[in-house]
Amino acid sequence: MVKVMIFIDGSWLYANQHILSKRFGDNYRLDYGKLPQVLGEIIAENLGGMPVDVVRTCLFGSNAINYDIDDEQLVQNRRDFYDLLREEYHYEVEVFHVNYRGKRLKRSDRDPEDDFHPQEKCVDIALSTAMLYYAAIPNAYDIAVAVIGDRDFIPTLQHVRKIGKRVAVAGIKESCASEYADYKDPKRLKDFDIIWLGDLLDKLELKISKRRLECQSPLHIGSRFVYTDEFIRKGRRYYCHECKEKYRVQRLEQRDFIQPPMAEYSFEPDSPTSYGEIKKLLVRRLEDGSENKYGFIRNERGDYYFHSMDLMDDVDFEFLREGDPVMFDVAIQPNPGSRDKPNGKGVNVKLMDRREQPVPASPPLQSSAPVSSSQPFSPQSYQL
Ligand SMILES: [Zn+2]
Repeated sequence: MVKVMIFIDGSWLYANQHILSKRFGDNYRLDYGKLPQVLGEIIAENLGGMPVDVVRTCLFGSNAINYDIDDEQLVQNRRDFYDLLREEYHYEVEVFHVNYRGKRLKRSDRDPEDDFHPQEKCVDIALSTAMLYYAAIPNAYDIAVAVIGDRDFIPTLQHVRKIGKRVAVAGIKESCASEYADYKDPKRLKDFDIIWLGDLLDKLELKISKRRLECQSPLHIGSRFVYTDEFIRKGRRYYCHECKEKYRVQRLEQRDFIQPPMAEYSFEPDSPTSYGEIKKLLVRRLEDGSENKYGFIRNERGDYYFHSMDLMDDVDFEFLREGDPVMFDVAIQPNPGSRDKPNGKGVNVKLMDRREQPVPASPPLQSSAPVSSSQPFSPQSYQL
């Protein structure tokens, strides 16, 4: 049995997947669950039908931190993409932060005078390191399949081959360094013809037949049963399109008064992950019966607002208790000196085991705004 390991440059693939989908029209959905298996089959064909075992699929990607709040959906989409690969298909996913310093993600949305360039860190090196690391571990893999497009990986592929492992490259024609595509292969990068993902779209299409699902939203009106071919994640509830749209609009309306203008806050460029403890948990019942759940985290720098949507997937808002130690990413730094907007914003909030807490619980802050649950929520009582 030949062991295959797959190494994917996730940032590149995410940025270029639209090229693949475009060929089949807007409704094409790529099934990332099938990708390792299909690549394994191609390697097997190349080996004359020898049995192949895809032992691991590793993806390296990045996502924005300290971004303009108008891009929250884009960042969430990418977070969902990585979660999907991890949870549904057991990819090994490593994600690195790109600091946007409060700016918009797309260049076209930024001030044309602004010469800011987001710096993606570690992704290429992490992929290269993993590929070489496993190459050096006896029996970890026989063949590495690199799903890449950037020229930067050339030395890595050469060294993996020097260790005696075989290398295959899978790419996208429209976004591929010429060295990988060159059949003469003067740089000695690969042991197989390049695999074009565009040629595999038939095999990689996500196919789900329609079935009857029940919408679980409290906002739903009328019959809850919907015939749909939508993809539903493991263990997730189904919400119909109308309810999702209602929820999105509702969130936008709430956001307008809970989000402070970004420009008034300073950003912490190098230490986005922070620790603190849950100071207050609040639930506000909305007119339509749904609930807005949010809270505050406190540490030595001040208080951070978070919404239940900012919790990591494995954290249930109902499970949180005041005083719980948490780890979170700082989207906005608190400013305890400010009278009207003292609170920061925390995202990716993760509950920690008390033993994991690296710093002692912070002393209460004199200067921070009082947070109280005795009054009903209003924008006036919580100046964020
Ligand atoms: Zn619904």
